[in-house]
Amino acid sequence: MEQIMRNFFLFLSNNKTLTKVAKKYGFRFGASRFVAGINIQEAAKKIKALNEKGFVVTVDHLGEFIDSVSEARQSAEECVKAIEIIAKEDLQSELSLKLTSLGLDISHELVMENMHKILQAGKENDVIVTIDMEDYARLEKTLQIFTSLKQEYDNVGTVLQAYLYRVEEDLEALNLYNPYLRLVKGAYKESEEVAFPNKSDVDTNYKKVIKQNLLNGNYTAIATHDDEIIAYTKELEQTYQISREQFEFQMLYGIRLELQKQLLKEGYKVRVYMPYGADWFGYNMRRLAERPANVAFVIKGIFKK
Ligand code: FAD
Repeated sequence: MEQIMRNFFLFLSNNKTLTKVAKKYGFRFGASRFVAGINIQEAAKKIKALNEKGFVVTVDHLGEFIDSVSEARQSAEECVKAIEIIAKEDLQSELSLKLTSLGLDISHELVMENMHKILQAGKENDVIVTIDMEDYARLEKTLQIFTSLKQEYDNVGTVLQAYLYRVEEDLEALNLYNPYLRLVKGAYKESEEVAFPNKSDVDTNYKKVIKQNLLNGNYTAIATHDDEIIAYTKELEQTYQISREQFEFQMLYGIRLELQKQLLKEGYKVRVYMPYGADWFGYNMRRLAERPANVAFVIKGIFKK
């Protein structure tokens, strides 16, 4: 039953029409449990509150499946604005973004133009920008764009997904670039031809790449809510005397708050991934797929004004 629910929510997350309808009918119908606000000003207040508690943040202007040039440019403007506010208000926050929100599916020139604008603003304001990883169909293009930008900008990172069979090779290929990598299990619906269908295989592969990247000496963000993976990372830290300067834990805004606090108390760096904006639909459907029990939170958000 859980698998059916998962597939259902992942199917919804991919639905362009529903994404557009949800965006049009506004944030009131979104889920405030998982989304920090409608604009960067609202998100900035929440970043500040988290910073005061000792957390660092990566803020994400929600957006996906954009198919017009003007929307892609607008999305880039939002990212630049977020960077400027982070700097102006002296917030401890990085920026995360999705290339499809900046025109990846429209043209290479457009997405590059937008990324240059954003990374230049990040460079001037000392803000790191992480390119989220989307579905498999966009993996190659995303990696190519990351490696090309990394040669020009130090302040860019990206994400690798442990559910993909090819992740170890990608990790080794990126090693040349001394990358800032976020490692995740993977959130999209992929075919068995490219991704492990079973959770236990994904977990095993995830542990492998965490170890590989840490032992390669690269800065590693371990982005998970999974107790077993977190315990494994702590074991690696002990066994290989890995400095806490070399890694951080990342979790999604609104998820496993007690665990976030506990890790902070133990002296680990904890970064909260904080989405904001009107384009909440796909993001929330993926959170439901991860844990169908979250339906209650989303329904509460729908009826909350
Ligand atoms: P799971 O095995 O899914 O969960 C382990 C345990 O964590 C569960 O038993 C449950 O207790 C808890 N848990 C997990 N998810 C939830 C939830 N939604 N609500 C409540 N409890 C939950 N994926 C991408 O494909 N590309 C990205 O760029 C990307 N960026 C991410 C950035 C961050 C900071 C994080 C934390 C995740 C990101 N993801 C991304 C999502 C990731 O791939 C997983 O889908 C997601 O993190 C769930 O996997 P998990 O490692 O938490 O483990």
